[in-house]
Amino acid sequence: MRRHEHLPPPHSKPMSLRRLAASAPGRYAIAVLSVGLALLLQKAAWPFMPTSPFLFFFLAVMFSGWWGGWGPGLLSIGLAALLADHFFLSPANSLSVTAGDGVALSLFTVLSLLMTRLNTALRQTSMERAVLLERERLARARAETEQARFHALLMQAPAIVALFQGADHVLTLSNPLSTALLGQRALLGKPLRESVPELAPQGFLALMDRVYSAGAPYTGQETSWSFLQADGSTKTYVLDLVLQPIRDVHGRIDGVACFAFDRSESVLARQRMEELNTALKRSKEQYQGFVSQSTEGIFRLETHQPLPIAQPVQAQVDAILEHGYIAECNDAMARMYGLESAAALTGTRLGKLLVREDPHNQESIKAFIRGGYRLEEAESHEATHDGRPRVFINNLVGVIEKEHLVSAWGTQRDVTEQRRAEEALRHSEERLRIAVNSAAIGTWDLNLVTGAYQCDERCRQLFGLSTAVSLRIDAIRSGVYPEDLERFERELARAFTPSSGGDFRIEYRTLGTEDGVARWVSVHGRAFFNEQARAVRFTGTVLDVSERRRTEASTRFLAEASAVLSSSLDYENTLSNVARLTVPELADWCTVDLKPPGEPFRRVAVATAVPEDAEFARQVKNIHLDLEKYSAHPSAQAFLRQQPVLIEQIHLERFLENARSDEHTRLIRTLQPLSFIAVPLVERGRAFGVLSFFSTRSGRRYTARDLTFLEELAHRMALSVENARLYREAQEAIRLRDEFLSIASHELKTPLTPLSLKLQMLSREVKRQPDSPLRRSVEDYIVIGTRQVKKLSELVSDLLDVTRIAGGRLRLEPEPVTLDLLIREVAARYEPEAARLGSRLQLELQGSVEGHWDRLRLEQVITNLVDNAIKYGAGKPIHVGLHTRENQAWLHVRDEGIGIAPQYLSSIFGRFERAVSERHYGGLGLGLYITRTIVEAMGGSIHAESVLGEGATFTLALPLTPGESAAQDSSEEPSEADSATRDT
Ligand code: ADP
Repeated sequence: MRRHEHLPPPHSKPMSLRRLAASAPGRYAIAVLSVGLALLLQKAAWPFMPTSPFLFFFLAVMFSGWWGGWGPGLLSIGLAALLADHFFLSPANSLSVTAGDGVALSLFTVLSLLMTRLNTALRQTSMERAVLLERERLARARAETEQARFHALLMQAPAIVALFQGADHVLTLSNPLSTALLGQRALLGKPLRESVPELAPQGFLALMDRVYSAGAPYTGQETSWSFLQADGSTKTYVLDLVLQPIRDVHGRIDGVACFAFDRSESVLARQRMEELNTALKRSKEQYQGFVSQSTEGIFRLETHQPLPIAQPVQAQVDAILEHGYIAECNDAMARMYGLESAAALTGTRLGKLLVREDPHNQESIKAFIRGGYRLEEAESHEATHDGRPRVFINNLVGVIEKEHLVSAWGTQRDVTEQRRAEEALRHSEERLRIAVNSAAIGTWDLNLVTGAYQCDERCRQLFGLSTAVSLRIDAIRSGVYPEDLERFERELARAFTPSSGGDFRIEYRTLGTEDGVARWVSVHGRAFFNEQARAVRFTGTVLDVSERRRTEASTRFLAEASAVLSSSLDYENTLSNVARLTVPELADWCTVDLKPPGEPFRRVAVATAVPEDAEFARQVKNIHLDLEKYSAHPSAQAFLRQQPVLIEQIHLERFLENARSDEHTRLIRTLQPLSFIAVPLVERGRAFGVLSFFSTRSGRRYTARDLTFLEELAHRMALSVENARLYREAQEAIRLRDEFLSIASHELKTPLTPLSLKLQMLSREVKRQPDSPLRRSVEDYIVIGTRQVKKLSELVSDLLDVTRIAGGRLRLEPEPVTLDLLIREVAARYEPEAARLGSRLQLELQGSVEGHWDRLRLEQVITNLVDNAIKYGAGKPIHVGLHTRENQAWLHVRDEGIGIAPQYLSSIFGRFERAVSERHYGGLGLGLYITRTIVEAMGGSIHAESVLGEGATFTLALPLTPGESAAQDSSEEPSEADSATRDT
């Protein structure tokens, strides 16, 4: 539809008229009217211008054509032609037409048609222009509306919108969100760089510049920008940002549009969410950690089907056992059922876990149901299918939904071991109670504030308290033996000092007032203190330790007595010392009587406990036992029967019957013996004396136990006497042996020298008769004989040396000696002997080792070592070494022979000590003994090293200077051994 066709013509009259005039009839009417008007006007003007009959008709035709278009135009032309012909052309008032008028009429008509044509074209053009104008107006109006709507849209957009113009980014539009972002600053029309300076350092302007210059839009997600706010603060926004270049009509960039969505809230929310998630995760982990680490079982039960709670309890119990199962649990829970991990337990039916019929299990579940589906710290005894009855502490909460039990949460603690321990403790306490009751232990408990106390009968007895007396510290104190009182008080004071911890431990003697028996008691107690550090309670035990004390004392005494007995071989003296030891521990008096064979009794010792009795002791010492006259005396009886005698309680009158004199009687009366023991001293089945003990002032009464002990003492005394005798005999035997050895070696030595001379003479004699047929065999005999004589001399010399050493008569005569030369001499002498046995002597000697020694003795030492090396060297090489070090000469003699077993290495230096059997190697075992003695006398030392079967090394260290040699023995007689050695 073409809208402009309906539009009214331009310059229109008021609406109704215009519409009328514009309608088709209106246009024709107006044509008629205008022709009529032209007729009137032509008529009026005709007299003045009779040559222009068409003038006003032209105007009418023009108007009609202009106004009404072709139709009205043509109508007006026709009408005008008719009227002009009728009124103005001749003949007037006729329609007949002359030729001239015809031409005028035709001209008129043609001109009018032309004019109408022009007018309609003009009208068309003007109408089209009007339409165009209208259209433009409408378009503009629409554009303006659009712009306004767009503006409004931008302004109300839920996004941040800002438009910038030009390279300076002049802000041309900023919607409220944008303005708020910019801190409500009035920035319109201002360049961005100046108006929002804080953006430049954040790189925003660079971004804008890039978008502006390159024309490429920028999109940024969750970019963060800070803006100054009206109050001067800075606020950071997280924006989803779009920077879009704006182009003008020519496509040139003339600005940048900035769109942004404020993501701050959502980012914050997301951060919060993430934090929440993290926290949630952490707490979940913590929870899981807690659950898995927990030593308590934590579990969730579920049921395969919801269990109605409106049924009888037993039915519910059955249903729970039937349908309940472990939906979730921790490892600790699984372990309580003997399973490795939670996984092994989850899914297990309760009925499979717990023995269904067990009344304990039934009871536990009933308690849960009856407790409103709750159990709190409830102990349950459960029989589990792994066969271990367990005791658990349970906490369980059921979840009830719509009258049905659907699940339950719970914790469980296995207290089986604890209960067992408690049970054991109860038993052991019971046992302890029985033990305390049956042992000689008394228990006591004192309230120091109220004076209330507990004290059993045994405790009273041990403290020495009568039944009537209340247990108080004073009462206990009054029962302490006076000598122990100070110690008792000290310990008590210490126990009542809080820093001591309240410990009270003491052993003391009681007076034994109640049953008359003095005892050793061991008291263990503990004081308890209040906040003011005051002792308020004192409790403990008391134990009779008299027996232990007695045993300890006996052991101690026996040890002491043994020490005294072994200290000397003078037995009379030691017996007196032991007698002194027995008082006052064992007796108030002790006497020792000895009867050597064939001699009368001799009183060798009297000991008394009290120094004041010294005078009586002297008198007692003078009394001698007389077996013939007073054989009935208990001591004599003990001697004669070789049996101990015990008189627990002496009847003085009867005892006096044994008195040997008035003086004796007086003494007995004065001393008033109470109890008596006599034990014989027996050696090799024969009594040689008697020990007598009696008590007086101490009030002591001897018992069978004392008798046993004193018998033991007598036995030890007898042994010591026997030992002393044996020792003396041994000493005597040794002395006799040494004497014999000394004499024998002298005697043996005497014929050896002439024998040796005789052999030398014989040798010379044989040499003088070279032709004698016997010469060869005689010479052989002489060689063997000489060797044997030499050996015999050496043996005898050794024996002589030993007797000399034993008698302290070894004498050294130091002189300057060149040791290496001496060794060479000895080696040269032994070369043939070594060669005979297949050995070779290898010398490794440091030259010229000078020292100050007894030359002959040193030679004897070297000889002994080399001789042994050849003898035990198994025909292997022998090495002799010498060097000096640290002012000492070091001599080594090493062989590769049979060696010495480790256990003999130190003993071979002893007298007569050997490490080989006599069958294989002859010898006296004296060589090394003499060697060591000589070396040590020279201030040196010797030791042997050996591996059995691989040889032995003897190492000798000798001081080079005489000052370092040890004291030398003096010898009166000249050394015969020396001469023997020299001889050979
Ligand atoms: P004897 O050689 O007369 O037995 P000694 O006193 O010289 O006496 O030696 C004591 C013992 O030491 C010897 O019996 C022997 O067992 C052992 N003995 C000494 N020297 C050696 C050695 N070189 N190799 C092995 N054993 C040795």
